[in-house]
Amino acid sequence: MARIFCIANQKGGVGKTTTTVNLAAGLARVGQRVLMIDLDPQGNATMGSGIDKRKLELTVYDVLLESATVAEARIRADKCGYDVLGANRELAGAEVEMVALDRREKRLRTALASVGAEYDFVLIDCPPSLSLLTLNGLCAAHGVIVPMQCEYFALEGLTDLVNTIKQVHANLNKNLQIIGLLRVMFDPRITLQQQVSEQLKAHFGSKVFDTVIPRNVRLAEAPSYGLPGVVFDPAAKGSQAFVAFAQEMVEKMPPASATTGTTPVPAPDAAPQFVAAPVVAPEAPAQNDL
Ligand code: ATP
Ligand code: MG
Repeated sequence: MARIFCIANQKGGVGKTTTTVNLAAGLARVGQRVLMIDLDPQGNATMGSGIDKRKLELTVYDVLLESATVAEARIRADKCGYDVLGANRELAGAEVEMVALDRREKRLRTALASVGAEYDFVLIDCPPSLSLLTLNGLCAAHGVIVPMQCEYFALEGLTDLVNTIKQVHANLNKNLQIIGLLRVMFDPRITLQQQVSEQLKAHFGSKVFDTVIPRNVRLAEAPSYGLPGVVFDPAAKGSQAFVAFAQEMVEKMPPASATTGTTPVPAPDAAPQFVAAPVVAPEAPAQNDL
């Protein structure tokens, strides 16, 4: 059965879509069967996989409204090596249309059940909000990957995401947990970034992925060619980092059946402890909150 992960952070422009398409391509490169779901009406992950969002006949919108199945709506992104359940601006309407429907948070989860056996990984690119669309992603997933930049305000908003995840865990999806924080757009020449990176690792320990994604212009150029960086320029430093991240995911993530029933550690009262000057914003949640 597929391991299903949301790439989420309600902050805009932190690298969610870049992470989703490049992790999908990286996983495909190491032999995994991947379905990439674009859950953002911006449709960036769709376009970034070489699929023209304006020409799509069926999208994740149709799946959420149950007028199409995943098998009917998915498209093969040939050059990328993975399947895509695409999105376009039509998806913004689903938010409103679903409010009146029953099981509105669980529609994606229900729809994925029929294709779970066909994939090793399902990756869901979430929009920059904690909306009903994101909620559908969280209800369908086993875990959440949180891309973040190593800046002072990196953790601002993480508390809201953690609280949402806790609520989803308690009420809607017992399997959900934060898999890890992924340091992205990292520039080692910037001292503050180095400090924040080290403090993230010191504070959150194993909840921070070992792989660090560097700031790399080839990753930023790739979407204009309709390709993930990993496919556009496999030799680029950023692409190699994403393939390394894909390998880290394969090694760390047991098959979905083995994770069923795991419960995140309950939150302690302890405030975060900082080793040196707190360059990480002080409202950071405690490690065990993740
Ligand atoms: P949104 O919240 O709007 O969905 P996002 O979180 O999905 O945004 P991206 O679209 O992935 O963020 O990235 C924002 C911008 O940063 C894009 O222009 C992207 O090309 C660029 N970018 C992302 N990661 C890197 C990187 N490692 N190096 C250089 N540029 C990057
Ligand atoms: Mg995005």
